[in-house]
Amino acid sequence: MTLDDILVEINHAEKIVIMAHETPDGDAIGSMLSMNLALKKLGKEADVIVREFPRTFAFLPGAKEVKSNSDIEQYDLAVSLDCADLKRLVGKEYFESAKKTIVIDHHGTNMMYGDLNFVNPVSPACCEILAGMFEYFDIEIDSEIGSCILTGIITDTGGFKYSSVTPETFEFTAELLRKGVNVSDIYQRVLETRRKSNFELLRRAMNRLELLEDGKIAFTYINKKDEEEVHAETGDHEGIVENGRSIEGVRVSVFIREKEENIYKVSMRAGNGFNINVSDICYIFGGGGHPRAAGAVVSGTVEQVKEKLVKEIKKVI
Ligand code: 5GP
Ligand code: MN
Repeated sequence: MTLDDILVEINHAEKIVIMAHETPDGDAIGSMLSMNLALKKLGKEADVIVREFPRTFAFLPGAKEVKSNSDIEQYDLAVSLDCADLKRLVGKEYFESAKKTIVIDHHGTNMMYGDLNFVNPVSPACCEILAGMFEYFDIEIDSEIGSCILTGIITDTGGFKYSSVTPETFEFTAELLRKGVNVSDIYQRVLETRRKSNFELLRRAMNRLELLEDGKIAFTYINKKDEEEVHAETGDHEGIVENGRSIEGVRVSVFIREKEENIYKVSMRAGNGFNINVSDICYIFGGGGHPRAAGAVVSGTVEQVKEKLVKEIKKVI
């Protein structure tokens, strides 16, 4: 499968739908919005399915065009972005009924669930894959498309600081600067601005943070009750897990967030300088992700989930 095959499918399709993983982050949102803008440049109309849109990204071009559902029962083409697993895909009903499906992603644990799968596990962001793809398709990356792509790159690299960053990451960013994109403004908006509710959640999570196994594991959690009490919005939990990771000596940082009663969404990060693959640990629980950032869903009370996770983490630290 090549990029040309993807372009053939796009050119053939009339009704196109774009989607990404649940609780979308900057890379998921940036990928969907940039894909939609790029398709317009090819003369195509697409629907973008998003059911929880973090307010942080509302400034991006095309943010207002997204839909939570559509009347179209069968699309000619469904494009899944930044999503390793069909079970995490929002709008999977449209994906499953589409005549053709394309998966574009950067997770090493991608299940290759599309008719065409374009997966590059060494790319720091799905958005960076799209940047290369649009260039290959001769689609001009204007400041609107560039802003969406940059959002995904900045959020998925923690602000250009992860080892996944490539020379192309900086070359692409430099090119956008030359085109007049306000890189600093996007950076401040997507990484350096906290809602009050986000801060309040962080405060609670930090108060509860425990250092286990001689300080090698950082663990903390947030319950539904916390989110209600601080009037949390979509996306407010993002970034909490990073705080545990930055503590000296921490090899694995774990943050769990109550999804439903006794069901927790796990976020795991590998500490800097330690060769630990958290994606392998999450895989044991049916999840996945990247070697240094991964997730899963685990059932039980906070204590039970903690115990299950620590038992597996202990084996590799
Ligand atoms: P986060 O902790 O920010 O939610 O996710 C970290 C990384 O792991 C992201 O790349 C995300 O897509 C991936 N990830 C999170 N949860 C899951 C999961 O349940 N299954 C899989 N396959 N990947 C996940
Ligand atoms: Mn991503």
